[in-house]
Amino acid sequence: MSVRVRFAPSPTGALHIGGVRTALYNYLFAKKHNGTFVLRIEDTDQNRFVDGAESYIENALEWAGISPDEGVKAGGGYGPYKQSERKVRYKAFADQLIAEDKAYIAFDTPEELDAMRERLKEARVANPQYNAITRMQMRNSLTLSAEEVDNLIAEGHPYVVRIKLPRNEDVRFKDLVRGWVVVNTATMDDKVLLKSDGMPTYHLANIVDDHQMEISHVIRGEEWLPSAPLHVMLYEYLGWEKPEFAHLPLLLKPDGNGKLSKRAADKLGFPIFPLNWVDPATNELSKGFKEEGYLSDAFINFLALLGWNPGGEKEIFSMDELIELFSLEKINKAGAKFDIEKAKWFNEQYLKSRSDEELASEFMTLLGEGIDESKAISIAGALKERVTFVKDMIVAGGFFFATPESYDEKTVRKKWNQLAVDKLTGFASHLKGLEQIDREEARDVLMRYLAEDETPLGRVMPALRLALTGQAGGPDLMAIIEILGPAEVVSRIERAIGTITLND
Ligand code: GLU
Repeated sequence: MSVRVRFAPSPTGALHIGGVRTALYNYLFAKKHNGTFVLRIEDTDQNRFVDGAESYIENALEWAGISPDEGVKAGGGYGPYKQSERKVRYKAFADQLIAEDKAYIAFDTPEELDAMRERLKEARVANPQYNAITRMQMRNSLTLSAEEVDNLIAEGHPYVVRIKLPRNEDVRFKDLVRGWVVVNTATMDDKVLLKSDGMPTYHLANIVDDHQMEISHVIRGEEWLPSAPLHVMLYEYLGWEKPEFAHLPLLLKPDGNGKLSKRAADKLGFPIFPLNWVDPATNELSKGFKEEGYLSDAFINFLALLGWNPGGEKEIFSMDELIELFSLEKINKAGAKFDIEKAKWFNEQYLKSRSDEELASEFMTLLGEGIDESKAISIAGALKERVTFVKDMIVAGGFFFATPESYDEKTVRKKWNQLAVDKLTGFASHLKGLEQIDREEARDVLMRYLAEDETPLGRVMPALRLALTGQAGGPDLMAIIEILGPAEVVSRIERAIGTITLND
């Protein structure tokens, strides 16, 4: 059997990071088994439709490198891939189920449904349902005569189609993550399959599409686990072979207390969407991981390990390695705590491994102002081990672009003294008139000069760094000298000597 999986988001807003993880696991599983990854847009609920959400989903997956083999944009032989374009397909199955006495027509108005729930609550029924018992007190094709039903329909009374569940029967299926799941139909609701506007509900559309698209494995978030028994019943009723199910653990807040929500992420100050999202209703901007500065491969590596682990100590995995190692059996049952510090750590690791040239071009774009490319490459090389995001280079490397305005006080107190000033003056005089100097030459000149009277390096280096950067720490000082160039180094040393008050 060939593996066909799908990611089936509803375009009701930006794609949450949990959705990206679901897409990723589907993708990894498909690729691992030389299968097909389908992107299906579940837009049957027109009331919840949000402008721009569908293209957001496409763009987010593209940025993350999770490219669908089939979908609205990618095309494929099982289309259309948007449920609103498949409308005509669903009703026939609802009709088939009615004809086979596995579904029925219900005319109850919202008021009647409310009254039923109230009655049940008063009778102390904890979980009021439309089920094998209560449906016999409602207005539906099980309690009305065929003639009455036909008349009501002819008069234009709105109606829905509900599944007719057995009164007391165990529904069982084996979830590839959670093991055997057994639910008794006595605890289930006769869910609506077809709404009064003729549109299918999620349940009907979902299983018809999964069947028609020959989906072999349904891999989705745990929030859909309660719907799975109903889906299993529908497969049985329609006589279709059901797919395998794998329900993924929830993403939890960093403290493990409850589901990771946009509210929680906002409060803690980290993104929850892959890309920037402007809510069309409120115009509110939510920052994305991309715009925050995360590299897509770092983001994927981080996400892959939220709820799955191949075992062992290794943490850095390329997409190809993830594909190679991925298995549904190694997905955890327990929720995965979201740790933004870990995401940052991944970004640092991936940043370090990027070439100086690549980082320089991003850095130059961010900087916006003209800067010499070779200088940008050197700056990127000097800073890439010291920052979390490329954008941090602008702050961390501020001294490359401007003479320090102030000097770290503690270093001034401890390291700025007559000896240091004398040695800096001497070093500056060796640099004067030079066009350029590379880091090895700079080290050489400084070492040889200090060796003349055996001045220890430690007596001069902190003062030199202070004069050039204003700071106590930073990237390799000789690299800084190479990047700034001899003339700038001399001018900064002179400025520091003229500005900083000498300690005795
Ligand atoms: N449309 C559902 C969602 O928004 C799909 C759930 C499923 O994968 O079955 O997540």
